[in-house]
Amino acid sequence: AKKKGRNSYFFYNEELHRWLLNKIRIENELPGALANDQLELFYQPQIRPEDGLLVGVEALVRWRHPKNGLMLPKQFIPVAEETGLIGEIGTWVLKEACSRMEAWQSAGGPKIPISVNLSFRQFRDSRLVTFIKNALDSCGLSPQYLNLEITESMMADDMEHSRNVLGEIRNLGIGISLDDFGTGYSSLSYLRNLPINRLKIDRSFISDIEKNKRDQAIVAAIVTMAENLWIEVIAEGIETKEQLATVENCRCRAIQGYYYSRPLSEAEFKRKYLFPS
Ligand code: C2E
Ligand code: CA
Ligand code: CA
Ligand code: CA
Repeated sequence: AKKKGRNSYFFYNEELHRWLLNKIRIENELPGALANDQLELFYQPQIRPEDGLLVGVEALVRWRHPKNGLMLPKQFIPVAEETGLIGEIGTWVLKEACSRMEAWQSAGGPKIPISVNLSFRQFRDSRLVTFIKNALDSCGLSPQYLNLEITESMMADDMEHSRNVLGEIRNLGIGISLDDFGTGYSSLSYLRNLPINRLKIDRSFISDIEKNKRDQAIVAAIVTMAENLWIEVIAEGIETKEQLATVENCRCRAIQGYYYSRPLSEAEFKRKYLFPS
């Protein structure tokens, strides 16, 4: 037992060591990712199941790393948050998402909004509204086609400030989605106090929904409440047709999830969703 304990101790230490090395490597390489155009947006469709219509799209960042291949946000966004580089990355994402949507619409694509995730640091940056305006102005996208996704945890410490910033953004005509809805500490008070116009039901309510009556009751209640508040609802993380049927039964009218599509490269998204032949 002793030996085993010792081994697992070493194993743990080695893991930790590897994790740290990896973190340092990412810290060092991330500035170059921006400078060398290695960041890329992927796009996941948001669909109205009733008729299969594309109603929106979420932009999700990827890092096309020369050695590691395509890296997911969880592999570098936390490091970017820590080092502050998320500011620059976030500004790039905003610009890129807006200019893509403008280009697609100019080419005759559908007039739908593009959703962009904001980070905690971006949300706290006093220049946020300026960055957003610049992103729209530089490409000429109309604000109604931009939607910003925020999470409940970003609001936590300063509701007054959050409300003011979001109010300013809404006044520009930009949409605000409350992402991962239901996972925070006081989801309802955010709904009550913040000028949001869409909420995204977190995947944790969906993953078991075809069997779980409680999840069904919660999702149905969220949909009803949102309707009465004139807030749009979208269910996230729909993977199977059973989940889709159950969520539709709860009268949810828009969904995002692998059932329809994983996030796609721009080329693929254009071919499959924007300009299907
Ligand atoms: P999120 O905003 O909740 O985005 C949805 C995530 O769920 C995406 O992961 C998407 O690929 C995944 N997803 C969608 N449908 C399904 C499904 O049916 N099943 C499962 N299992 N997963 C599904 P992704 O692209 O890895 O992004 C993870 C998180 O990274 C995002 O969560 C968001 O918080 C963050 N993120 C992504 N792009 C950006 C960005 O540009 N800026 C910032 N600040 N954060 C970003
Ligand atoms: Ca999101
Ligand atoms: Ca989410
Ligand atoms: Ca999330």
